[in-house]
Amino acid sequence: MTDPLMSKRDYYEVLGVSRDTADRDIKKAYRRMAMKFHPDRNPGDAESEDKFKEVNEAYEVLSDAQKKAAYDQYGHAGVEQGAGGQGGFDGGFSDIFGDVFGDIFGGGAGGGRRRSSVQRGADLRYNLDLSLEDAVRGVEKSIRVPTLVGCDPCNGSGAKPGTSAKVCGTCGGNGQVRMQQGFFSVQQTCPTCRGEGKVISEPCGSCRGQGRVEQVKTLSVKIPPGVDTGDRIRLSGEGEAGSHGGPAGDLYVQVNVRQHPIFERDGRDLYCEIPISFVDAALGGELEVPTLNGRVKLRVPAETQTGKLFRLRGKGVTPVRGGPVGDLLVRVVLETPVSLTSRQKELLKDFQKDTEGGKKHSPKKNSFFDSVKQFFEDMT
Ligand SMILES: [Zn+2]
Ligand SMILES: [Zn+2]
Repeated sequence: MTDPLMSKRDYYEVLGVSRDTADRDIKKAYRRMAMKFHPDRNPGDAESEDKFKEVNEAYEVLSDAQKKAAYDQYGHAGVEQGAGGQGGFDGGFSDIFGDVFGDIFGGGAGGGRRRSSVQRGADLRYNLDLSLEDAVRGVEKSIRVPTLVGCDPCNGSGAKPGTSAKVCGTCGGNGQVRMQQGFFSVQQTCPTCRGEGKVISEPCGSCRGQGRVEQVKTLSVKIPPGVDTGDRIRLSGEGEAGSHGGPAGDLYVQVNVRQHPIFERDGRDLYCEIPISFVDAALGGELEVPTLNGRVKLRVPAETQTGKLFRLRGKGVTPVRGGPVGDLLVRVVLETPVSLTSRQKELLKDFQKDTEGGKKHSPKKNSFFDSVKQFFEDMT
């Protein structure tokens, strides 16, 4: 095997940041790059997939103060060693969704935690963007998830088919050895098996002895009606395969509902704004209002002011966890007429003349200017 460390790009370069960039900005840079190269946005593009892994690997190191310090001092060699001897790809790949579930995976850098070689697979998170319509009505989505699956030829053991892993002769399967140093006896991770307790003399060719291989799984996810941003759907056992026969992790589908051009959602309620002519607002009229299930009529009473909120009961969202259906709240916004003909302007001037002086036509305006008058009188 060629040395994978030789061909690696500088992690700072990968994320497009400099060595003194603040942690917060490194995170931002990572998110930007991860979005750009996410396999879902670049289906079938092997180069993007490689970039995606590279970005995740870089972030895994630069987001961890200890690893970052080691990297700053020793370069790639400084962080590859401590990663539990799993080889290059494991850490980076597992951390794709590690933002939230990273702790479950454990990172593998701590000393004594590697006693058992049987480990549960990492949980994965998948961010799913939905339209408001799909979120409200429910939908079935097909998603592609990069993950680690158990290797077929070796049945996940990592040993070449027909052979099997042997108990490590150095530590007798303990994974730890005692070293005598002068007066002291020091317990150390076994250098032969790197704490696994077993050695594979003939590694499986398909997984290079890892027992797991990278694969992009296509899964069908049923989204129940009424989900909202922040809701999570768990697909049990669809996370990464466990190592050495450990159980698989889970996959969490994290819902994000996209902005809608007409409706704004607040829990079970929907909001929308509808322009209304000042004639309709003054005389009253009927407006056509969009709902998620088609148009409905809304009667607007005479003397309606701009900004007034009308509640259409039951035209909102049925919450995914049950409970009453929400409402649609319609805000009418008065539209000032534009592109008027000279005749229309004349009519408005006549209207103006006719209503001038009559305080009762503009109670708000009058009370406002009374307050202004009072304000200036108080000042003097
Ligand atoms: Zn050993
Ligand atoms: Zn294998």
